[in-house]
Amino acid sequence: MINVSTVPAFNDNYLWMVQGRVAGNAAVVDPGDAQPILDWLHSNKQELTSILVTHHHADHIGGVAKLKETYPKATIYAPDDPRIKQKDVVLESEQLISLADLGLEFKVLMVPGHTSHHIAYFGHGSLFCGDTMFASGCGRVFCGTMRDLNNSLQKLSKLPEETLVYCAHEYTLSNIAFAREVDASNTDLEQREIDDTQKRANDIPTVPTTIGLEKLTNPFVRVDDALIIASAQNKVGKELAEQWQVFETLRLWKDGAL
Ligand code: ZN
Ligand code: FE
Repeated sequence: MINVSTVPAFNDNYLWMVQGRVAGNAAVVDPGDAQPILDWLHSNKQELTSILVTHHHADHIGGVAKLKETYPKATIYAPDDPRIKQKDVVLESEQLISLADLGLEFKVLMVPGHTSHHIAYFGHGSLFCGDTMFASGCGRVFCGTMRDLNNSLQKLSKLPEETLVYCAHEYTLSNIAFAREVDASNTDLEQREIDDTQKRANDIPTVPTTIGLEKLTNPFVRVDDALIIASAQNKVGKELAEQWQVFETLRLWKDGAL
């Protein structure tokens, strides 16, 4: 049993609180800021026992030091990235981690692309993927490569369709606006725009999403779809023979770099 709570931070970040079978204990995923987490722990009378980090960006690790200072027994799990200074357990690919204080287990997935050392945590029907996959979009390519991020999204898309995807930002409506441009005749996407616009109008998060919904409405996942390939080829005016080139075209297009 897993229970996940949303803690909004900054403009559009979501920090995730995770509870399991052990009452009174909680983990946090990607604490970019400490104060909202401390407030949540206090008002929910929970002890912080684990800190899970997906990548080194400040909006994901900015609160780690303060949380560790406040909860010295909390274990920090992180990828093998020298830019993440504070870590207790360095994670490797496909490693299973057992959070005994919560009664939960997660599999570590290597998902480079947004950064070179980005990881995701998968378990109990839930995926915490940081800035890799977003609702109807994906992260930008900073210190990873286009090929990497394409491979990582394809890897995540193979997870069970009902998997809840806890990504780290509320970028959904702007992602959908771009997706509609690329994938104009997609009726699932059209419906999603209606549903998610309604949610945002009521200040409801559009995250978590599911792998199944992303396979239907996320152009960065749907890079094998004939209409998306056609859109990308049309944009650059040449044939794109490889899947990753379609992905790269979409990413540059969304970045305004084409
Ligand atoms: Zn990031
Ligand atoms: Fe981020």
